[in-house]
Amino acid sequence: METDQQKNGIWTNQKAMLLVTEMMAGRIVDIRPQVDFTSEMGFNYPSVEKALDIKGDELLEVLQSLTEADILREKFFDRLLRCPQCRSINLRPTTHCPKCGSGYIARGRVLEHSACKYAGLEEEFISKGRYICPKCHQEMRTSGVDYQSLGLLYKCHDCHETFRLPLIKWQCLKCATVTDEDKVTELNIYYYSFNEDKRSWLEFELRPKIQLIEFLRQRGYKVAEKAAIKGRSGAEHEIDILATRDDGIIDYTIAIGVKVAGDKIELGEIFDFDDKAYDVGIHDKVLVVVPELGREAEKFASQQRIKVLEVRDLDTVLIGNIATPPKEVKLEPFKFESKKQLIDYLMRHGYDVKENAIVKGKSGADHNIGILATKDDGIITHRIAIGVLEFEQPVDLATVFEFDDKAYDIGIMDKVLIATPGLTPEARQFAKRQKIRLFEIEAPEPSGN
Ligand SMILES: [Zn+2]
Ligand SMILES: [Zn+2]
Ligand SMILES: [Zn+2]
Repeated sequence: METDQQKNGIWTNQKAMLLVTEMMAGRIVDIRPQVDFTSEMGFNYPSVEKALDIKGDELLEVLQSLTEADILREKFFDRLLRCPQCRSINLRPTTHCPKCGSGYIARGRVLEHSACKYAGLEEEFISKGRYICPKCHQEMRTSGVDYQSLGLLYKCHDCHETFRLPLIKWQCLKCATVTDEDKVTELNIYYYSFNEDKRSWLEFELRPKIQLIEFLRQRGYKVAEKAAIKGRSGAEHEIDILATRDDGIIDYTIAIGVKVAGDKIELGEIFDFDDKAYDVGIHDKVLVVVPELGREAEKFASQQRIKVLEVRDLDTVLIGNIATPPKEVKLEPFKFESKKQLIDYLMRHGYDVKENAIVKGKSGADHNIGILATKDDGIITHRIAIGVLEFEQPVDLATVFEFDDKAYDIGIMDKVLIATPGLTPEARQFAKRQKIRLFEIEAPEPSGN
């Protein structure tokens, strides 16, 4: 079984989590930008800056990652122009002659002398109360005949060009660079709001999930979120939370699925989870559901021995247990010496141990289990069936098969065999295939142990 712990995007970012918490609690509603020439970016988000104590690119990254996760929705707010040299948004427009680029231009009413075609600003023609053409010095008397008005235009003092639209350039007030209009960096800024569709899911993610993971860790589990595991079919599956623990005798693996729905969770969804768990060979299955399972789904879950936890219950279960973490979590290597020593080990590790336990199977038959070890770790009740087989000859396939069958009938997947004096090769091969933990003893234990 290969596991691969993936980084879980936003949840590794404390700041992002804090922002989501604030928004869910309604302490931050809309995240609105404010233009701020004194800041590095030229704008800021005061509410977020204050709540998270971050700014600039770090703040934008938080907003972007939450938008990618569909927790925030962005809407266009404004477009800013930015100096390509120093990133300042403190720019002022300057106007220039489109022909020679000079900034020495003037705007006014432009007249054109019909006779010589000279065009200039009205003021150039005025001389002692009359209109005199500055080029050919003739007087112009009648509008529409001697001369005509071209309207309000610009005129360049350097090259004398007249034009309707000046060229616009942007001058940075911070570094003084002048940039052509088409070379200026444009930047869209957005405002953000909380995506209410994600509320139920987040209500689990933000608190119960963290508690659940903490709960598992306190009990000695290694926890991976969004763990990728290859199944027997060859397909790769993602398990929402994968908890593994080497208990010395048995390696426990719990697959925890998280299902969130607006109303009830339907059969199809948990069928998919069960399928995945089966394919990757995990029999300890927990499904955390928000809010609850539908009736068909519930029936299926109980049939498939999926432990179902509703988030509202989880809260109580976990809070109660987290307050009083179990004393033993220390793992010690286990090396089999004797049956008695195995029982001691189990009891020391919190198992309830019963010898010669009679357990009813699904078939209705009563089965005798040499040692039945049970331990409720708060999430899953682990049951280990330990067969104690003592014979003159190596234990044969049929006997191991019978033990395996019994365990299957009573629904126990964690199996241990203590076999004296060992197993036949076929029996050993079968045990291995059925994932039975084997302890083979050459000679019977001395009596009176
Ligand atoms: Zn003229
Ligand atoms: Zn010019
Ligand atoms: Zn600049």
